[in-house]
Amino acid sequence: MDDVREQIEFDVLFVGGGPASLAGAIHLMKLAKSEGLNLEVALIEKGADIGSHALSGAILNPIALKELIPDYREAGCPIETDVRGDEFYFLTRTRRYGVPLIPKYMHNKGFHIISLSKFVSWLGRVAEDLGVNIFPGFAGKEVLYGQDDSTVIGVRTGDKGIGKDNTPKTNFEPGIDILAKVTVFGEGPRGSLFETISKKLKIFEGKMPQVFETGIKEVSQLPETNYFSDSRGNDIHTFGYPLGLNTHGGGFIYQMKDHRISLGLIVGLSYQDPILDLYEEFIRFKRHPFITELIKGGQVIEQGARTIITGGYYTVPELAVGGGLFVGSSASMLNAPALKGIHTSMKSGMLAAEAIVEAFSKGSFTKEALGYYHQLFEDSWLKKELYVGRNFFQAISKKGLVKFLHLGAQYLTGGRGIFDKMPIEEDSGTLASLKDVDSQLAAGYEKQTYDGVLFVDKLTGVYLSKTQHREDQPCHLIVQDPNLCVNECFETYRCPCTRFCPGNVYELEIDDKTQEKRLKLSPSNCLHCKTCDIKDPYGNIVWICPEGGDGPRYTVV
Ligand code: SF4
Repeated sequence: MDDVREQIEFDVLFVGGGPASLAGAIHLMKLAKSEGLNLEVALIEKGADIGSHALSGAILNPIALKELIPDYREAGCPIETDVRGDEFYFLTRTRRYGVPLIPKYMHNKGFHIISLSKFVSWLGRVAEDLGVNIFPGFAGKEVLYGQDDSTVIGVRTGDKGIGKDNTPKTNFEPGIDILAKVTVFGEGPRGSLFETISKKLKIFEGKMPQVFETGIKEVSQLPETNYFSDSRGNDIHTFGYPLGLNTHGGGFIYQMKDHRISLGLIVGLSYQDPILDLYEEFIRFKRHPFITELIKGGQVIEQGARTIITGGYYTVPELAVGGGLFVGSSASMLNAPALKGIHTSMKSGMLAAEAIVEAFSKGSFTKEALGYYHQLFEDSWLKKELYVGRNFFQAISKKGLVKFLHLGAQYLTGGRGIFDKMPIEEDSGTLASLKDVDSQLAAGYEKQTYDGVLFVDKLTGVYLSKTQHREDQPCHLIVQDPNLCVNECFETYRCPCTRFCPGNVYELEIDDKTQEKRLKLSPSNCLHCKTCDIKDPYGNIVWICPEGGDGPRYTVV
């Protein structure tokens, strides 16, 4: 294959079309205009459209949006409803108990309930109107470095039209080299380009490892008369059942407009039980009497899954390298105690934009020049939010009631807690082997029944995410040693990928006659959540970007 690529040059390139990049691009265009700078700015997004890979809770604290677009309501920002009040419950198997004291940082009254895919799509239109060149359907495949091999000079996009056999087909389109003086990486949690940079340029040296949760979420249409009809709190959070107190996470239900709800379960990937199945837990959550009552008569209309970065301040990497900046979830910009990351991601993009304008005014794009972003971060409300939650993940990932002792101490000491800088273990290292775990799930899950309307199975969930991948392309899930899966991983953990993947991508096949085992992959089901890349206990699975435009096509989640 000819490796001479078309090159396009911009001043600034944003990689990823989420809230961080889009807020950054919008702020940059506005600042550049006010400074009289004429910047050519581009943004690439691997999803087919801006917003098609955007999925989150989603409650929006509008603090950053107000700074970015003060008249956002008049400007057409798509808000579902405003939060009227919060309800917080501890669930046992059959009952719920209201939690009377909700920590202040979890109060959402006055914030907005949004569909992240709609919100991001709107931000994309605002950015485009300001002159940002937006290219959806383009996946960044490779980071381009300058002659010193450490300065980022742009990104190569993925080829299109390569067959499963790795040869170009008749519809082959080579990727292009997009060069820029500054490249801003906002690929979301576990970005594949970000991963390669972090290994090459060692931006996590002296930092704690990034850790994640996986959220499975759906939007359901409810009947006109429903739980929220009497104007009660429309922001509901639960903990306890089905995860118990040894695995952190919990459920949420938010009221959207037109009698729709957004409902989801978040599971911390620091869990230990190898038998735990994320989708089964999600269904068990929905089968709780309180939730079943709340959703009765409804129909699931869209479903999806995504990982959430949750480690907080001590897992923030170096924010700048020569020619490159990191924003949003890539840079751990989430306020974990408040369970919110949209406003923090947006603010990080906006601070990056301010540093970029400063770099252009000085004509220098070195690590030191772009490092002004770090200084801006340290002086911002964003740092304050992250710093208060610096030990939060460490506390909630403790087993049993001990977590509440830590959380209480942190609440009273502004985040310091019983001791500061509590250590974090990587999610891939927390699974216990079958023989060591006292698994309540060892016997497996009760067989679920699905009605295909209110309770849908994994494959129907994939269908409802509108996920599509071109079939004849190289597999984007690299299982480096298949033998390791069916021998060691099977013996030790019973192939947990078959349970932590919410897309039913991994299946274990056992030949009836020979008892030979084989891990079968269905990459076209992939929801791009990256859980496999994160949680695989051997680091044997590597997620790489498939062809641009592939993946989920979310519209309302
Ligand atoms: Fe998520 Fe990996 Fe499954 Fe895709 S294959 S849905 S990235 S766990």
